[in-house]
Amino acid sequence: MNFILIGAQGSGKGTQSEQLTRSLGVRHVASGDMFRQAFDEKTELGIKAKAYLDRGELVPDDITVTMVLKRIKEPDCAHGVLLDGFPRTIPQAQALDAGLQKIGQQIDLMIYLKVPREELLKRLSGRYICRANQHVYNINSHPPKVAGICDLDGSELYQRSDDTGEAVEKRLDIFFNETVHLLDYYNAQQKVIEVNGNQGIDQVRTSILNQVKAFMASKNEG
Ligand SMILES: [Zn+2]
Repeated sequence: MNFILIGAQGSGKGTQSEQLTRSLGVRHVASGDMFRQAFDEKTELGIKAKAYLDRGELVPDDITVTMVLKRIKEPDCAHGVLLDGFPRTIPQAQALDAGLQKIGQQIDLMIYLKVPREELLKRLSGRYICRANQHVYNINSHPPKVAGICDLDGSELYQRSDDTGEAVEKRLDIFFNETVHLLDYYNAQQKVIEVNGNQGIDQVRTSILNQVKAFMASKNEG
């Protein structure tokens, strides 16, 4: 089966995707990793994609879609994939569907890890990093013992400019805007489950697996 996992930055998507790929027995295919790997292997697509990324531009859909499809056809993806960070737009989703159809495959399910905007803002804007070793803290959920000082090496904690209020707001705007359209697209195919991401890591994992099971059971009945 092929899955798409979607969740805003700060939703816990990274943590969940690792555990989820193991539980579902599928390959984790993250677009960022895929670009890096293709470039390291000096593939034609990888070199093309890198040129766009170096200029700070988006990689065009035809390159990204071709890379994803190529990756899905590799032997280690025979049991399916969990796509992470792709597709982001309707044209990408349509191109992906068309490409998968040609090889007798499809997207089976989109898992949306849903966290309220206020909670995401709290999580993201509370992030602090230490100067010496980039240890990560969060003033809400994982504060240092002494304010402003790293527990592990005593260096100063600071906030990255893209973790401050305005930059975070802008990123969330883009995310929610893209997600609304993707949800519509896959909902029309009845392929979406929404999971409450506003609970502990273990509860989120259990919720995802239970809802995936329930979805598969209902599909087999229908
Ligand atoms: Zn530190």
